[in-house]
Amino acid sequence: MTYIHKPVLTKEVLEYLNPKENENFIDCTVGQGGHAKLILEKTGPNGKVLGIDADQEQIKNCRELLKNFEKRLILENDSYANLPKIIKKENFGPINGILLDLGMSSWQLEKSEKGFSFLKDEPLDMRYDSKNQNLTAEQIINEWPENKIEEILKEYGEESFARQISKKISEERQKERIKSTFQLVKIIENSVPKKFSKIHFATRTFQALRIAVNDELNNLIKVLPEAILALSQGGRIVIISFHSLEDRIAKNFLKNKEKEKIFKILTKKPITASNEEIQINPRARSAKIRAAIKL
Ligand code: SAH
Repeated sequence: MTYIHKPVLTKEVLEYLNPKENENFIDCTVGQGGHAKLILEKTGPNGKVLGIDADQEQIKNCRELLKNFEKRLILENDSYANLPKIIKKENFGPINGILLDLGMSSWQLEKSEKGFSFLKDEPLDMRYDSKNQNLTAEQIINEWPENKIEEILKEYGEESFARQISKKISEERQKERIKSTFQLVKIIENSVPKKFSKIHFATRTFQALRIAVNDELNNLIKVLPEAILALSQGGRIVIISFHSLEDRIAKNFLKNKEKEKIFKILTKKPITASNEEIQINPRARSAKIRAAIKL
């Protein structure tokens, strides 16, 4: 494997999950196992990690990269939205901690060829799970009504030019089907004013499509209550989010559960990466950690 994803906020993840000898953890977004490896290093000789990923390529990557831990690492190619079913299937427990490192990995961005990056000309796919998931970014762009596209650009992308972009998409798709990332990038470029912005003009549209294709916010909303049920008393949950929509869901959920005396929040304010980490790992730029302990 030539490209390896650098896990974010590793020191902080270990601090808040606090893995100890023989404890068991679930990594709901195992990816290339960057965090899982750090946990496994602390939980010998018998502690286990159940690693879940919706992308079967990532499961393969992780299996190869963490070969040394194969006796203590269980991998499941599934959505974390199915957490109770997966735990039951593996008869996994007791569970001392659960980690969610949301969104996509830099391996998927750089190497999956699924159209996650607006800097590469690839098919508009964006599914993490190409086996069981049907909806692709190409279908959304070519088949959804203009107003529904506008809605996801606004809601999931927080894109101020959602109306202009969706209008242009609906005009262009009548001429020819929009199949590639570069076709879409061109359309976005022609719909937004050319002014200096800190982020690339296609960032928000691509984020919105990825969230919609993979139903990311609903999966997060689904998994959080299941994670509480799964955790042992004193067990910890750590959520790493990368944009305000995810962070809001995590924040409100933990706050409500603290009011109900189910969780104690360990991060009064979300924890972000240091400037040093951001320099070596740009994905850490927008990362925020929230953590809590089950009472
Ligand atoms: N912590 C990992 C990187 C995680 S990146 C590491 O250190 O390597 C996020 C991962 O979550 C991606 O591999 C993506 O495929 C996966 N993912 C996204 N949505 C998911 C879902 N609903 N269920 C399971 N995995 C998901």
